[in-house]
Amino acid sequence: MNDGDRRYGMETRAVHAGARPDPATGARQTPVYQTTSYVFDDIDHAASLFNLQTFGYFYSRLTNPTVAVLEEKIANLEDGRAAVACASGHAAQFLAFFTLLEPGSHIVASRYLYGGSVTQFTKSFARLGWQADLVDPNDPDVVEAAIRDETRAIFVEVLANPGGIVVDLEPLVAIARRHRIPLVVDNTMATPCLIQPFHWGADIVIHSATKFIGGHGTSMGGVVVESGAFDWFASGKFPGMTEPEEAYHGLTFAETFGDFGFTMKARAVALRDFGPSLSPANAFHLITGCETLPLRMQRHCDNALEVARHLETHPKVAWVSYAGLESSPWHGLARKYLKNGFGSVFTFGLRDGFDACTRMVEASGLFSHLANIGDTRSLVIHPASTTHRQLTSEQRATAGAADDTIRLSIGIETVSDLIRDLDEALEKA
Ligand SMILES: *Cc1c(COP(=O)(O)O)cnc(C)c1O
Repeated sequence: MNDGDRRYGMETRAVHAGARPDPATGARQTPVYQTTSYVFDDIDHAASLFNLQTFGYFYSRLTNPTVAVLEEKIANLEDGRAAVACASGHAAQFLAFFTLLEPGSHIVASRYLYGGSVTQFTKSFARLGWQADLVDPNDPDVVEAAIRDETRAIFVEVLANPGGIVVDLEPLVAIARRHRIPLVVDNTMATPCLIQPFHWGADIVIHSATKFIGGHGTSMGGVVVESGAFDWFASGKFPGMTEPEEAYHGLTFAETFGDFGFTMKARAVALRDFGPSLSPANAFHLITGCETLPLRMQRHCDNALEVARHLETHPKVAWVSYAGLESSPWHGLARKYLKNGFGSVFTFGLRDGFDACTRMVEASGLFSHLANIGDTRSLVIHPASTTHRQLTSEQRATAGAADDTIRLSIGIETVSDLIRDLDEALEKA
C-alpha cells in the first residue's frame, strides 16, 4: 500500500499504512528494532546523515525503524503530511511548542483541557518564558481578544477530557488564519476515527498515543502530526522555521524540508536536544493498537452512549455530560464535527456530592479505579480527589471536574455487564 494513497478506508489504513514486510527477513509484522544505533556505509554516508542531507537511521534518539512505522501510520490516519513520535503525550506537546515558541512567546489555549496540560502550560511552560491564557474556546470574541503580538498558536482539545465538551473548530481556524498562527488540536479523545482535524483547517495535531491509539493500557507514547499546509514565511513570527539553523550548518527548516519542515525541526532539534524518544518496544505495542483502532472506537462509542443514556435516568444521578446525549449543550457541535460516535469518556454528577463519589468509585467491580482513559477495560475516577487535585477548585469547576463529578472511560466489554456493575455501585453510594 502506498502511504500517500488516501483512497483506502480507515480500517484498511489502520492495518496497512506505514507498514510493509520487513525488507531483510520478510517478517510480516513490523519487527521491534531493539537497537540504539546503525552502522554507517562509510564516512560520507555518516556525514550526510548528520547533516540531514540523507534520510536514514543512525541513532534511535532521533529515528528508529519501528517508531517510523508508527509515525507514518498516524500521519496517514490523520491525512497529515508527516509525524514525529515521542515518549508521551506531554512530550509531544513539549516538542510542538518548543518548535513554535521563543522565550516571551504566548499561546491561547482552551480552558477545557486535560488537567496535566493545564499544569504543563501554566506552571512548567511559564518557567521557559512561554505564557498561556486559558479561555472559553467556544467564544470566538474571547479567543480573538486574548491574542497578542507574541501569540504563536491556538491550542484546543476538539473533544475535551474529561467532560464530553466539543470545540467549534471553524471560527478558531478563521482566527488563526487572520493572525497567521497555527491551530494546534489535541485529538487524543476523538482519534482520527471520529474527526480528522486537518480536514477542518487545523495545522498541527497532537496525540497522547497512551490512550486509544495503544488502547490496551500497556504503553506510553505521543505523536505530533503536521498538515503540511501552514505557511511559516507569511508572518515573520516563526524564525525557528524560517531562519538558518546554526546547529545544522545554516539550513532553514521550512525551506529545505517544505511541507514536512515542522516535524523535521521537532525531531532534529527538540527531540535530539531534549531526548524524550519513544522506545521501539512501545512503538510496536502502539502499532498493534492502531490496527484495531476503528473497531475499538466504534464499540467504545456505542457502549458509552448506552451507559450515558442509562445513567441519565438513574435517581441518584444529578446530571450526565456526554456529547452524544440530546441534553448536552455540545450535542449540536458533536453532530457537526464527529463521525461514528461521540467518544468513550464522559462525566456525571451524583446528587450526594464528594463522599458519595468516593464511595461509588470504591464500590465498582468491573470498573478499574485509575488515572487513565482509552483502555479496553472500563475505568472510573473521581477527578477532584485525583487528576485535578492540583488545580484550584475554580479551575476544577471550569475544567468540568467539580467535587460531585465522576469520570468514566467506557471500555469494550458487554454493555449490559457495565450497566449492572454501575447500578450496584450506585446502590452502595
Ligand atoms: C493523557 C492526555 C495527555 C497527556 O498524555 P500522556 O501520554 O499521559 O503524557 C494529553 N492530552 C490528553 C487529552 C490526554 O488525555
